[in-house]
Amino acid sequence: MIEGMACVFCAIAAGEIPATVVHETDDVVAFRDLKPVAPVHVLVIPRQHYRDVRDLAADPATMVAVLQAVDVVAASEGLDEGFRVVFNTGGQGGQEVDHVHAHVIGGRQMQWPPG
Ligand code: AMP
Repeated sequence: MIEGMACVFCAIAAGEIPATVVHETDDVVAFRDLKPVAPVHVLVIPRQHYRDVRDLAADPATMVAVLQAVDVVAASEGLDEGFRVVFNTGGQGGQEVDHVHAHVIGGRQMQWPPG
């Protein structure tokens, strides 16, 4: 199997399964999380399959593209009062989908520390 072909976020990036896309470029896709934890909950992914943020760090141009998409989403979603960006990583980090994604979460007061 080609790496990433069975991956749900690869399928979203390819348009093979539906998602509510709020922003996309040649390199990244941003779409609403199916189970939002806040009024705004958008996931930003690179189209290319990387397992997690550590693997993404090996591709600086794509890493920057992800962060630039976070900025676009923050602006378009009106998160002027602030927001949180989370890369859950690995089992203890709570990562369930093994295709790196930035959670962009906002629209309410965030708590610290997270659970
Ligand atoms: P994580 O636990 O960091 O891997 O987060 C995975 C996130 O992906 C969860 O918040 C899920 O609700 C979300 N998710 C899983 N499948 C889909 C999907 N098909 N469309 C949108 N969000 C999804």
